[in-house]
Formats: sequence, C-alpha cells, structure tokens
Amino acid sequence: MTHETWDQVREQLVPRLGRNNYTTWIEPLKLLSLSNGVAQFEVPTSFFGNWVSRNFADHILRELQQSGASVQRVEFSVSRETPAPKVEVKKTLARPLTRPTRPVDEELPGAPLDARFTFDTFVVGKPNELAHAAARRVADGGPVTFNPLFLYGGVGLGKTHLMHAIAHELTLRQPDMRVLYLSAEQFMYRFVQALRERQIMDFKEIFRSVDVLMVDDVQFIAGKDSTQEEFFHTFNALVDQNKQIVISADRAPGEIKDLEERIKSRLQCGLVVDLHPTDYELRLGILQTKAEHYRAQYHGLQIASGVLEFLAHRITTNVRVLEGALTRLFAFASLVGREITLELAQDCLADILRASDRKLTIEEIQRKVAEHYNIRLSDMIGPKRLRTIARPRQMAMYLAKQLTSRSLPEIGRRFGGRDHTTIMHGVKKIEELMTTDSQLSDDMQLLKRLLQA
Ligand code: ADP
Ligand code: MG
Repeated sequence: MTHETWDQVREQLVPRLGRNNYTTWIEPLKLLSLSNGVAQFEVPTSFFGNWVSRNFADHILRELQQSGASVQRVEFSVSRETPAPKVEVKKTLARPLTRPTRPVDEELPGAPLDARFTFDTFVVGKPNELAHAAARRVADGGPVTFNPLFLYGGVGLGKTHLMHAIAHELTLRQPDMRVLYLSAEQFMYRFVQALRERQIMDFKEIFRSVDVLMVDDVQFIAGKDSTQEEFFHTFNALVDQNKQIVISADRAPGEIKDLEERIKSRLQCGLVVDLHPTDYELRLGILQTKAEHYRAQYHGLQIASGVLEFLAHRITTNVRVLEGALTRLFAFASLVGREITLELAQDCLADILRASDRKLTIEEIQRKVAEHYNIRLSDMIGPKRLRTIARPRQMAMYLAKQLTSRSLPEIGRRFGGRDHTTIMHGVKKIEELMTTDSQLSDDMQLLKRLLQA
C-alpha cells in the first residue's frame, strides 16, 4: 500500500467518524509501513497515539482490510524527528508517563481555587443538602457513579464554593489526581487562544488528559457555537474514559437558551441537583458560623442578641450579600469600638437593607414572562386570546398574585384594565395546570427564581 492509497482509504472514514474526528485524529496519521500484517502509523505524540489506538484503531483496521490490504494489526509510534510543539505542553504531557507522583495543578490551565471554599466552611441546610451530598460523593473520589454532576441555582447560593470544595478534597486525598477547574468563560478563552495560536491539538490533549474536569457557569457558552462544539467533544471524550465531570449553571440544562440540544441531553444524563434559595434557618446558620469566625478575628467583639436573626430575616437575596453585610458590620464596629447592636446594624447596613426590601413590580413580572416566552410586552396587556399569548399572560397574573402584595383589582388594572374575576380565573387555571403540566410548572419555577434573584 502506498501513501496515495492510504489517502483514499482514510477518506472512507469520514462518514463513519464524522468530519470533526476525521480532521482531528485521522488526517494527521502518517502511514510508515505495512508489512507482515502490521500497519505502522506515525503520530505526533504518545497521547495522540493512545487516543487513536483506543478509539479508532478498529475502524482503521476494517477500512484497510476492505481495501484489500492484508493487515491484522495497526500500530502507532511517536515521530522522533518532529520538534516538540511547546515546552509547557510537553511537560504536561510527559508527566503522567514519567513523574506520576508530582502535584500537577500548577501546570493545568485551570483557575486558582479559593482556599476558604472548603466543605468545612460550607453550612448545610435544607435548601442545599442534596447538592452538598452529591458534591461530597464526588469528592470521595470513588468510582464514578453519575456523570456529570450538574449543580444549578441562583447567584450566590454556593455553586462555586462546592466545586472548589470538591477540588480541594480530591487533591488532598489523591495528590496525583489531575483536577481541572475553570469557568466556562475561561474555557472559551483558552479555546479561542488555541485556535489563534494554532495549538488546537495541544488544547484537546490537555483537556482530554485530566481526571476530573469542572466547568463553572456553563450557561456562558450558550450561543457560542464553536466553543459549544468543542465543549461537547471534550465532554464526550472524558465521559467515554469514565472521568468525572462537574458542571454548574444558573439554571437547569433544559432551561439554558441557545444551548445545543445534544449538549442539553448529555448534561441531563448524570445527576442534576439544584441549590434552592436559602431559607431562614440556613441564613442564620451561615451568619452564626461566620460571626464566630469574625469574633475570633476581631478579638472577641461582642454582638448583641437578635442581630443575626434580624439580618437572616431581612436579607433574603443571596449568601454573598449576607456575607458582605456581616463583614462590613464587624469592620465598622471594630473601627468605632462599639458592640454590634441592632441599631448599629440598621445604620451601618441601611443601603443593603433598603435594596433587599425592594418590591417586585407587576411590570417587571410581565416583562420577564414576555421575554421568556418570546412575546411582546404589549401583548401582556392587550386583548389577544391566542393560547400562546393568553397562557403566558395568565402565568404573569399568577406570579403577580404570588409575588406582590397587590389585590386582584389592582392586578387587573395593570393587565389592561381587566376585571378582577378574569385575574382570579387566570390564577386558578395556572394552579390547575401546574399539577398536570410539568413543562409549565418547570417554567414557573424558573421564572420565580429569576424574579426573586
Ligand atoms: P455561586 O457560585 O452559586 O454564585 P458562591 O459559591 O460564589 O455562589 O457563593 C457566594 C458566597 O457565599 C461565597 O463566599 C460562599 O462561600 C458563600 N456561601 C454560599 N453558600 C454557603 C453555605 N452554604 N455556607 C457557607 N458559605 C456559603
Ligand atoms: Mg459561581
């Protein structure tokens, strides 16, 4: 067989493997020799060779045999002469083969981990107990039972904290483990950079050689087509190797707009858990834990009873805001040398308390719902009876009733002067549908979360 015939034979693999796999893995193969039933190929790196051997060797063999070549085996060897692509990459690649015991983190293109985000500092309550348990399971580093772990929830509810905690725990227990944590934005950035610098092969190699991949805020890549594509391939490659993947997003996979269907369904294949908005007990627990920490830091600064309860009651937005409030409170009290009283808290945190007090308006609800269903805001108040418009309108009515303190007649007025009985009917209808229509009930949950964020 000559190079030319191999070029023709390999073309047959395009429909079988897909254009993407073909250009990535098949085209770079150089046929060195074919003798004694062995086809010898040259590959750029040993990782590349392993990969092709594991995933495509059978296909190649079959294609060669069908072309009439007498061959029973394919082999891949690394080219000797070709210069190494780049120093950092070479180190990363060589390590698992030559120095398996060195910690690897610093050489992976990941984001730094926050040392404070550990399981020790994570307060568990009803709203996050499932997410916490799942994260713990992954952090045990045992056999992969669900892949990926998909954590979702609103801003500041502890997604990043849990992911960092997993990474800390895993590297503590198994220092050799290659754990790569980064945000979806960083993933895109690295990908674009690799494209620009023509190092896409290195990029692929690095991402496919980790033991655990964690991608934070994956909603970021929605609508970014080639990044999505690459993410999908990375994802599949790791799942095929039974490597753990942990993903976070601000909403459930099915609710991320402009995310390819195949990615959505892959993301749903593992364990999907959400972090619910905090409840009073969890907020109080978090405040107590942090206050204890601060008391030590500020040498026993006193905090009057009832202050933490007050804050847990009033600041319901998210944990980040809660933490910020406490940090400021301690700093201020220590500055003025006073005990932290309710009065001091109200003074010092006036702006935060006012912002948390913010009332949701009916107009905001209408806008969010209209946006979600891709209809015009004016249709919310208009007369159209089309189901695709009437249903979202009723959902907005329901949300207005649930999330604001407006009366039915008041709500009616804001829906183009409708009668209060129309509003009541709408609210009832949605209540009914929520028990039978799971899509609608999912949409409702999402909308509620978005409006209350
Ligand atoms: P997300 O990534 O979901 O937006 P983060 O993980 O960044 O949220 O959390 C925001 C802040 O709140 C962080 O400082 C984090 O430590 C803290 N936090 C969130 N949930 C908890 C919790 N259950 N216990 C302790 N701290 C928490
Ligand atoms: Mg985060």
